[in-house]
Amino acid sequence: MLAYTYLGKGDFRLTEKPKPKIENERDAVVKIAMASICTSDLHIKGGFVPRAVKGITVGHEAVGVVEEVGTAVKNLKKGDRVAINVETFCGHCFFCEHGFVNNCTDQNGGWALGCRIDGVQAEYVRVPFADTGLSKIPDGVTFEQALFVGDILATGYWAAKIGEISAGDTVLVIGAGPTGICTMLCALLKKPAHVVVCEKDAYRRAFVEENYPQVIVVSPDEAQKTVRALSGRGGADAVFEVAGTKETFRMAWECARPNATVVIVAMYEEPQILPLPDMYGKNLTFKTGGVDGCDCGEILRLIKEGALDTTALVTHKFALKDAEKAYHVFENKLDGAIKIALTF
Ligand SMILES: [Zn+2]
Ligand SMILES: [Zn+2]
Repeated sequence: MLAYTYLGKGDFRLTEKPKPKIENERDAVVKIAMASICTSDLHIKGGFVPRAVKGITVGHEAVGVVEEVGTAVKNLKKGDRVAINVETFCGHCFFCEHGFVNNCTDQNGGWALGCRIDGVQAEYVRVPFADTGLSKIPDGVTFEQALFVGDILATGYWAAKIGEISAGDTVLVIGAGPTGICTMLCALLKKPAHVVVCEKDAYRRAFVEENYPQVIVVSPDEAQKTVRALSGRGGADAVFEVAGTKETFRMAWECARPNATVVIVAMYEEPQILPLPDMYGKNLTFKTGGVDGCDCGEILRLIKEGALDTTALVTHKFALKDAEKAYHVFENKLDGAIKIALTF
């Protein structure tokens, strides 16, 4: 089968691999229907993910149909339509039992797919711990509607959950890339008074303005005065940093009101500095990144209800055989690309 493979820094290529088999009784093999390209794939390509293993198939966000299950898999059968979770997790360790599935202590726990074991930008994938890592897509929900459930929607949902948003709050989301938009949509579910989205790229600002009129879109130089004016509390009540640069890290705590929660969702390519003397007395709570993808069933339910819709994010589709071209478009944000679906 065809698989898009990480061969070394800067080197992703289509390769031919054998179709995966069940290796453990808790595995399932899934035939991929649609996969997407994520910024984390670009982090691997750029050499910023040291634990990524050379030779693995990349990709960790996909939907498909169960092809085969191991003998210990209880909740799934051949033919089920499923969303694949970015995280595989055992379900039994201390962290799994507390919902911190990103920190599952099993050797296949956490972000393994498309990083430490073969991922989803291929015709088939083997998913360990299938009962926890795969979520059945409800009838009436399409593959395209469910495509982002296991990764960027899981991330946005988790971020909004830990962001402690209350009714009447002013929320600031920094970065209107795909994950920023998912975070914004999940923050809206908490019914704050205002959601302000800060984005430096004009085409992304225009995309959000056009598709999500319920939020306020600003450029970086307008963010602080906007959240101060809207909240009347000296800044945003909750800030989500989803851009991942030195400037946006600083903006996140500068735009927060005293005693706010700052959720760091982005993955940085270098260390950031917390200038504690400048922040003294602001009494902020920082929560740091790494999605706990344990609410996929609930996210699918919200999609079925019509409370969450991310289909506008799929601006481009390419066949797997054109993966190289798809990456080129995504990486360089060509032609207004927000999110790219690979089709099979
Ligand atoms: Zn991802
Ligand atoms: Zn575990």
